[in-house]
Amino acid sequence: MATYKIAVLPGDGIGPEVMKETLKVLRSVERAIGGLRFEFQEYAVGARCYLETGTDLPPETFAACKESDAILFGSAGLPEVRFKDGTEIAPQLTLRFTLDLYAGIRPIKKYAGIRPVLAGDPPIDYVIFRENTEGLYASRGGGVKVGEELAVDNMVITRQGTERIVKYAFHFAQRRKGAPADGRSRVTCVDKSNVLRSMAFFRETFDRISSSFPYIPAEHAYVDAMTVYMVQKPQWFDVVVMENMFGDILSDLGAGTIGGLGMAPSADVGDTYGLFQPSHGSAPDIAGQGIANPMAQVLSAAMMLDWLADRRSDPQAQKGAKAIESAMAEVLKDPRYHTPDLGGRATTAIVGEAVAEKIKASANPG
Ligand code: ATP
Repeated sequence: MATYKIAVLPGDGIGPEVMKETLKVLRSVERAIGGLRFEFQEYAVGARCYLETGTDLPPETFAACKESDAILFGSAGLPEVRFKDGTEIAPQLTLRFTLDLYAGIRPIKKYAGIRPVLAGDPPIDYVIFRENTEGLYASRGGGVKVGEELAVDNMVITRQGTERIVKYAFHFAQRRKGAPADGRSRVTCVDKSNVLRSMAFFRETFDRISSSFPYIPAEHAYVDAMTVYMVQKPQWFDVVVMENMFGDILSDLGAGTIGGLGMAPSADVGDTYGLFQPSHGSAPDIAGQGIANPMAQVLSAAMMLDWLADRRSDPQAQKGAKAIESAMAEVLKDPRYHTPDLGGRATTAIVGEAVAEKIKASANPG
């Protein structure tokens, strides 16, 4: 019996609402699949926590993140709550840097039943690998402002930082079935090497690493052109790798092509720790109404099980990840379970319940 200690950080806005449904789904997995137990422990984080305690990431929360097997994160930050320098409260970014969660893994997958966003409804199933610890966001908290006249943030690209994210992307491509267009594996490097020296270095490093994976085709795209390809031929892509800020922006665009941010999960992982959270933020515009789409958070929990399965060579955790994804895919085929962002009228709780029930039903058919 594998027991996993999970640090649960619901955070702000819709974070606690989608987290509640996700824990329901995980409890259903625990009951349906033998040999798997979760110990959930909740911790404070985010903007509300900052207002109440003076810190957005209390020491006990940080310690729990390090001591747990995985971190399940909701969303943090509220537009009206800011640090003194004007930046938003974003403990998820702090955790990425302090726990060295260098790989931001963001699947962009269109599920059957979701109304088409793109003309022709192309099949979409690729994964964005966003470098999480350097790039332009390495300047967070360290940029320079000179009086009221000048501000500078630097792009940081290191050989080691680029090598490890690129290697992770190629290893990940080996485990996938390839791009929907032709079933072939490929890794696409997205950069702006035609303009910036740092980006040319990113591409050079990508090319060097790609030569040790000769059986996986490698290709390049400039980030501006990539925004067009993601809309016009998304079925071409399998695994895509890029620096931090480009990954932040393109993963939101990708989410838009599959039904919105409520459908986009993510994993932030390093060699030691793993944090799993939806790609969306706290969505204060819909918070407290019970209408947030919980699927991105639920899918992030499936990614957590997948990661734990890999680390612990645990087939039960693997089964759990698969059970969540299949249940979710089935539930989405029925528009009665679509929240307003998907054009439906379902509540967060109805969707969570439906996924939990589907997992139970598939474990006990008939
Ligand atoms: P951040 O910068 O923290 O990532 P953001 O500014 O990108 O946040 P979000 O909080 O992600 O903003 O919300 C962007 C829009 O997407 C909002 O209109 C919000 O209502 C919608 N949205 C985000 N997540 C969901 C969800 N789970 N269900 C429904 N709508 C969502």
